[in-house]
Amino acid sequence: EDAGRTIEALMRAGAEGATALDAPGGTPLSFGALRALMRRIVQDLNAHGVGRGDRVAIVLDNGPAMAAAFIAIAAGATSAPLNPTYRAEEFEFYLTDLKARVLVTAEGSTSPAIAVAEKLGVPVVRLRETPEHGAGSFTLRFPAPAAPAAQGGPAEPGDVALVLHTSGTTSRPKIVPLTQCNVCASARNIRTALAFGPQDRGLNIMPLFHIHGLIAGILAPLSAGGSVACTPGFNALKFFAWMDEVGPTWYTAVPTMHQAILARAGRNREIIARHPLRFLRSSSSSMPPQVLRELEAVFDAPLIEAYGMTEAAHQMASNPLPPRARKAGSVGLAAGPDIQVVDEAGNPLPAGETGEIVIRGDNVMAGYENNPKANAEAFTPQGYFRTGDQGVMDEEGYLAITGRLKEIINRGGEKISPREVDEILMDHPSVAQVVTFAVPHDKLGEEVGAAVVLRDGQHVDDKELRAFVAERAAAFKVPSRIMILDEIPKGATGKLQRIGLARKLGLA
Ligand code: ATP
Ligand code: MG
Repeated sequence: EDAGRTIEALMRAGAEGATALDAPGGTPLSFGALRALMRRIVQDLNAHGVGRGDRVAIVLDNGPAMAAAFIAIAAGATSAPLNPTYRAEEFEFYLTDLKARVLVTAEGSTSPAIAVAEKLGVPVVRLRETPEHGAGSFTLRFPAPAAPAAQGGPAEPGDVALVLHTSGTTSRPKIVPLTQCNVCASARNIRTALAFGPQDRGLNIMPLFHIHGLIAGILAPLSAGGSVACTPGFNALKFFAWMDEVGPTWYTAVPTMHQAILARAGRNREIIARHPLRFLRSSSSSMPPQVLRELEAVFDAPLIEAYGMTEAAHQMASNPLPPRARKAGSVGLAAGPDIQVVDEAGNPLPAGETGEIVIRGDNVMAGYENNPKANAEAFTPQGYFRTGDQGVMDEEGYLAITGRLKEIINRGGEKISPREVDEILMDHPSVAQVVTFAVPHDKLGEEVGAAVVLRDGQHVDDKELRAFVAERAAAFKVPSRIMILDEIPKGATGKLQRIGLARKLGLA
């Protein structure tokens, strides 16, 4: 049973000589070498005063070394990956808030995190990649000798393995501590939902400073003895070349990445035919049903949409693999935690009724760090975690997300789900992407705005689009403003952020 409750135990699954990590064009790192790296790094950290529960901030670019550093550091301490594109003020906030014990960054890096760490008295440890020993393999150079850690040795199931912040879509990012148990439960849930095995080969394009990439992209497939090729990060222009070089059996991405991949799929049909995928996976925001259908047709493979969040160490629900039915517009069945749709008092609602989605399970965090206010609101009296998402479950247990409670637009008392308006506009043949959002209004409080990206070569104006919505929805749901843009501004994880978008677009 302990076999799956620490990251160290989880990584015992792979055969000694089988590939764990590599990179397009890189030398493979075997599971044996990964396990040896984990032991060496834990000893190294311990010898320099970093032990169980100590937070190691990691500022590295995406790639196999980032994946290996996350795993090896979490084997004996706490990994705290940070977005390497942050600026000094952000690093100062996170390094302080996380109580970083040391900062790990690449040899030769000139990240602003270094000056901030020095100012805060956080030792800067330099990571040197040693690709000659396998992709992702590395050594650490500590700035000065230190007394050995009081609590050394391998991490235990209740230790915090990973500290991350939420995406900040609806408010300032919240700090989420996830234990070894939480992280491993989620990895096992994903492994089960996707039936990962040693023959699976992932192509990781997800950032490794957020939960989706770390758990679904890396840990889950490795926990089944499968391999993962780690790219430097998503690049629509390189995606198909990587695919051809790596020969993946699957990949996971957010919908905006899938859309960019789809846009280039037509001219890469031969590569797609050469490397049949077992499935594609989408999570982190909603996948428009049209895009899902097009992707399935182009790749001739099922697209598995899943529902995840940082506080749940990623996955909560997932559509099943064939032969079981997946439903477009649904995030699937509970895939690990217990899921309920509840009323305001936290009481479960019958199938077909809309309410708040709440969850309980081994993968769910115990509470936010340094945030008593958020924690006071985060759990129902019944002990379930409130996701803040609104949804509805059908008779068969398939969950559909209807929106985020905080994003509901309140137009003079009329509540409008921005997702409903998105879906109507997505049905227009000229529309490639849309995001509907609240625009502050003197008298109504809020009114409806939308930003739209058109398909290549298409021309329509806002008037025609508004008329299109008016034919399909009540007048109060019709956006009073529709902006046609080349690109919609997104958050760091590629998510569309409805809250604050009106201000970003100069409408408020
Ligand atoms: P914050 O909590 O700081 O506002 P965030 O909720 O975007 O940011 P994450 O933990 O990265 O931070 O994202 C989790 C959220 O993403 C979920 O609560 C849900 O709203 C959304 N989400 C995840 N998967 C899906 C999906 N398949 N369909 C629709 N929404 C999804
Ligand atoms: Mg959230």
